[in-house]
Amino acid sequence: MLEKVVIANRGEIALRILRACRELGIKTVAVHSTADYTLKHVLLADESVCIGPPPSASSYLNMPAIISAAEVTDSVAIHPGYGFLSENADFAERVENSGFVFIGPKAETIRVMGDKVSAIKVMKQHGVPCVPGSDGHLNPEQHEENLRIARDIGYPVIIKASGGGGGRGMRVVHSDASLLNAINITQVEALAAFGNDQVYMEKFLERPRHIEFQVLADHHGNVIHLGERDCSMQRRHQKVIEEAPAPGMTARQRRMMGERCVEACRAVGYRSAGTLEFLYQDGEFYFIEMNTRIQVEHPVTEAITGIDLVKAQLLIAAGERLPYTQGDVQIRGHAIECRINAEDSKTFVPSPGPIRLWHAPGGPGIRVDSHLYSGYSVPPHYDSLIGKVIAHAETREAAIARMKNALAEMVIEGINTNIALHQEIFNHAAFRAGGQDIHYLERRLGLR
Ligand code: ADP
Repeated sequence: MLEKVVIANRGEIALRILRACRELGIKTVAVHSTADYTLKHVLLADESVCIGPPPSASSYLNMPAIISAAEVTDSVAIHPGYGFLSENADFAERVENSGFVFIGPKAETIRVMGDKVSAIKVMKQHGVPCVPGSDGHLNPEQHEENLRIARDIGYPVIIKASGGGGGRGMRVVHSDASLLNAINITQVEALAAFGNDQVYMEKFLERPRHIEFQVLADHHGNVIHLGERDCSMQRRHQKVIEEAPAPGMTARQRRMMGERCVEACRAVGYRSAGTLEFLYQDGEFYFIEMNTRIQVEHPVTEAITGIDLVKAQLLIAAGERLPYTQGDVQIRGHAIECRINAEDSKTFVPSPGPIRLWHAPGGPGIRVDSHLYSGYSVPPHYDSLIGKVIAHAETREAAIARMKNALAEMVIEGINTNIALHQEIFNHAAFRAGGQDIHYLERRLGLR
């Protein structure tokens, strides 16, 4: 087993990783910025190392500081969590070259999947259905060619940054007239946000759902899938509520798509946990990207399969064989996750600050992943996610009822949160019916 692991992240996921390590008897090292001395996992970790000032660029993205922390603490591995350096192939490479285990796939796999155009190409080669698109990067100089591609695909199309993430770097185009401009603007934005100005084109699907498949792969060629999640409740292309299984998904569809994902992952030598994201419209799946890391919404899959994904990542990184076969994966009941953000539930303006009172809900089928405690102060420097509530029950209806109770019991005093928004969504008849598309929330709430 790994003896000591550096947790190169913060907030709820750092705490989640710490808990998994402890259950496996692994020692933990928290690395944190000067704004994060009071984070719960920093207080609980066996050791902690301050790696820089509050801005992420100087701390959680500071590769030499994180690797030095691993060196001075005699750690053997680094878990990157999600966000920050989790999908940075250079980081994975530097970690491995410095003699540590990177808890995730190989650097080369991260590199291929991190570029959406190359990810799509690889998936296509291995029989995974993709969105009709430009099959490569666009050259903004070749205007006629770009017009031809767009007309062939058929408007509306979407221009996307190849290195994009977090729902940014995308622009919908409805006609020839705005195509050139959209390509140029997306390029400028992509360069500023991701340091990579390459863009590509896809058919813009008007009413898709977002459905993604979870995979687990070890170093010995064993690959399984853990079914799908429906993450269609989004605002600005960012997930707000996730659930598993996807409403209406048949066992046959799950098996068929799951097997395709497994085959593709086996073909590329994938290892660790990963997610293949699809848009799903009119009964068809279209691959959009792969996330080569643990995801925020992993607990809904854990709830319905009983498999601990973070522990699985740690065991896989230690070189162990997957302790499950595909036949062991059974789906039980329905799980829903609400992302709790420190933000106003109407204006979405971030709301950092001190938590006067924190009370977490509980009871059967309720899980709360949060680093909050009374007296903790949410710093203004990072993502507004302050926790997740996961409800699991025999049916979707029962899971919704359970979630509503849990949210009603939850107390977070001192800052604004989006709990009221979640409660509102659970009262929508259309949400309760299930299977809404990715634009539902913005449409329904009159948001942009
Ligand atoms: P990111 O890496 O920024 O999350 P994705 O490629 O995963 O980007 O897309 C994020 C979201 O953007 C999707 O869940 C969906 O809501 C929307 N989206 C992406 N591609 C398309 C498309 N071709 N048609 C319609 N919506 C899309």
